[in-house]
Amino acid sequence: MSTFSAPKGTYDLLPPDSAAVLAVREALAAPLRAAGYGYAETPGFEHVELFSRGVGESTDIVTKEMYTLTTKGGTRLALRPEGTASVLRATLQANLHRAGNLPVKLWYSGTYYRYERPQAGRYRHFSQIGAEAIGTEDPALDAELIILAADAYRSLGLTGVRLLLNSLGDRACRPAYRTALQDFLRGLDLDEETRARIEVNPLRVLDDKRESVRRQLAGAPAMRDHLCEACKEYHEQVRELLTDAGVAFTDDERLVRGLDYYTRTTFEFVHDGLGSQSAVGGGGRYDGLSEMLGGPPLPSVGWAIGVDRTLLALRAEGAAPAAAPATDVFAVPLGDRARRELFTVVTALRRAGVAADFGYGGRGVKSAMKSANRSGARFALVAGERDLADGVVQLKDLGSGEQTPVALPDVVEDLRRRLG
Ligand code: AMP
Repeated sequence: MSTFSAPKGTYDLLPPDSAAVLAVREALAAPLRAAGYGYAETPGFEHVELFSRGVGESTDIVTKEMYTLTTKGGTRLALRPEGTASVLRATLQANLHRAGNLPVKLWYSGTYYRYERPQAGRYRHFSQIGAEAIGTEDPALDAELIILAADAYRSLGLTGVRLLLNSLGDRACRPAYRTALQDFLRGLDLDEETRARIEVNPLRVLDDKRESVRRQLAGAPAMRDHLCEACKEYHEQVRELLTDAGVAFTDDERLVRGLDYYTRTTFEFVHDGLGSQSAVGGGGRYDGLSEMLGGPPLPSVGWAIGVDRTLLALRAEGAAPAAAPATDVFAVPLGDRARRELFTVVTALRRAGVAADFGYGGRGVKSAMKSANRSGARFALVAGERDLADGVVQLKDLGSGEQTPVALPDVVEDLRRRLG
């Protein structure tokens, strides 16, 4: 071991496990690309204010979990704790919303940073795939995103993902609900910190996981009973579209999520095989965020899926994608001349689109054949002085053990044919 190890709450992705992570990312991204979402990439850090304003001054993410730093020039930056604020900032900065083609549909993939207490499924550095549809208010767009996520989980073979759905109302109906909720919460027996939360962001109290609090919340007023007609109608349409698409959901009036910017549709995908960190993904509509960031009104909806937790869910179901062998052909040179000839063959194979690897380090045939077998390759190419004198290399089928000499100039074509 070296003197250094990765910081607490972080992890390294290395083979063979890393292949499964790539497969998960690809499975989550593919449906988005096919639905008109373009790829977006934003910096790993942003101005602190983007998150304090965009995610919310009263959220744990901003008050407790943000990694902040001051540059030598005195600029206050934060490692990004989530993707939505950055992607919306980038959209506004590039004026994508002005191109007249709304919604702006973007997807992204990256690592995010939160100073949380590490535990299974909760890291300080983690990976998400996200999607945002910016600038359009349409229940079909909310439904589209939810369906794409549900289909992505299904394409991975996950069966245990449940969808929780709620509406948080809008500027018209939420204030009255907020007041009613505050009145109810002020009457409860709660600790100092929670009492303070009632005044800043009472909806978040509904999200409290402690049993002593949950018990007291039993009679809390529900947003559902306070939705205005427009929000009710909107939510009903989202529900109908999901039902038409065969996407099952559970109405969960306690689902508020940790971020301040959500309006109307909110949803979370949970998996029961994950213990306390059960959320594999979540999102919702954030109609007011653009204005909070100084932009024009741009009603939007989006989600983020945790890549790490999706993989944990797959493992919990025993369905983690296996690493496909990366190599089709492994070359084993015996002697200096063979090294040169076979190295040329390997380069030619790669240029012809065949995944090939080489026994480096001038090792003996036994050790090189071990590497060939371990690589998962279907064929080994073995050559020594005598083979080369005859103008051939030995093509060994590593499955059957069968060995055939192939003329050196024909090797690439022969292997291409055999590998189909
Ligand atoms: P959030 O922005 O908190 O809704 O996060 C979206 C998704 O990212 C969650 O559903 C999780 O799957 C994942 N996630 C959030 N925080 C963490 C974390 N600290 N470690 C691992 N995954 C996380």
